[in-house]
Amino acid sequence: MSAAALRQLAGLFPEELPLGGYRLEQLLGWVYGRGVTDFSQMHTLPASLRGELAAAFSLQPFAGLQRVDAEDGSSRYLFTLLDGQRTEAVYMPYAGHSTLCVSSMVGCPAACRFCATGAMGFGRNLSAAEVVGQLLAVAGDQGISPRSLRNLVFMGMGEPLLNLAQVRRAAEILLHPRALGMSARRVTLSTVGLPAKILALSASGPHLRLAISLHAPDEPTRQRIIPTAHAHPIAEILSAASAYQEATGRRISFEYSLLRGVNDHDWQADLLAELLRGLIAHVNLIPLNPWPGSPYRATSEAGLQRFLDRLALRGIPVSVRRSRGREAGAACGQLALAAAPRADSARGLSAQNSSRL
Ligand code: SAH
Repeated sequence: MSAAALRQLAGLFPEELPLGGYRLEQLLGWVYGRGVTDFSQMHTLPASLRGELAAAFSLQPFAGLQRVDAEDGSSRYLFTLLDGQRTEAVYMPYAGHSTLCVSSMVGCPAACRFCATGAMGFGRNLSAAEVVGQLLAVAGDQGISPRSLRNLVFMGMGEPLLNLAQVRRAAEILLHPRALGMSARRVTLSTVGLPAKILALSASGPHLRLAISLHAPDEPTRQRIIPTAHAHPIAEILSAASAYQEATGRRISFEYSLLRGVNDHDWQADLLAELLRGLIAHVNLIPLNPWPGSPYRATSEAGLQRFLDRLALRGIPVSVRRSRGREAGAACGQLALAAAPRADSARGLSAQNSSRL
């Protein structure tokens, strides 16, 4: 049987595994506690059981991975999936609160004009196993327990709300006390802003932290840079955000990537502050991460500070999110974009530390 035909264990709830009691705890301990993805290494399980598990399940949704380390300590991972497509994750080991950024898709259909993933187009949705597998693979490569990773953001490739079934399933496995036991407060879903899907998440959970990629407070500017803005007006997004806040009690984050001369005017900061009044909100200003072919330029440091000050003056909690690992191609989607024309891929699952990408 090929690996692709095996059921991907990382995408299953503990209740769905054909084991119970003590043996199940042992298996979960190996996978989620120790990050072991090779059944033959699970030596506390009887050899016959290891054989049965290996015949029916796989913990390897990837054919290969490559790691690119940045000087600031972050590591970007490019995964080759079993069908040869590629996706990526970024591990950011901040002291005390390491964060893993995962992808929900190969490419992305949202096609935001300033985003490198958007320029690639849409490949396919990832399965829950491919999402959870990113965490297991990164933990394995870093030599840490998967359960020690406490913060995760869906801010890699893809629009998670357009792959809601698999993202929800993956998130529930992340939160499952017998799997990874993460806290919903520490799992952030970042969306381009799809009101009906936000309401769906609000109604049926899980109640993750929500980040909304607003990027402009006025329709003409937003429509210019975000194609989905034509179908989903800002007012509808904000009203869905407000409903989400009411249902979950969570503060909502708004992402705002600053594009020089496009969305960084004083009046836009003022209008943004106006729009967010009434919500418990937080604005994350993101300096544009330029990529080869990017049609926009980043706002200057002075311009960024000015935009930040205007928001702060109007009582909006605001911070700057500086992307880490610029020299490693840190803009969302850049690794896979740069790697796309290459026919070769890493073999096996030992990461190659390559800076050639
Ligand atoms: N589809 C989701 C996740 C995207 S990536 C969403 O739209 O939110 C996470 C954030 O990075 C989004 O706010 C996205 O708009 C932003 N982003 C993507 N490419 C960027 C770039 N080159 N520079 C700055 N921000 C970027």
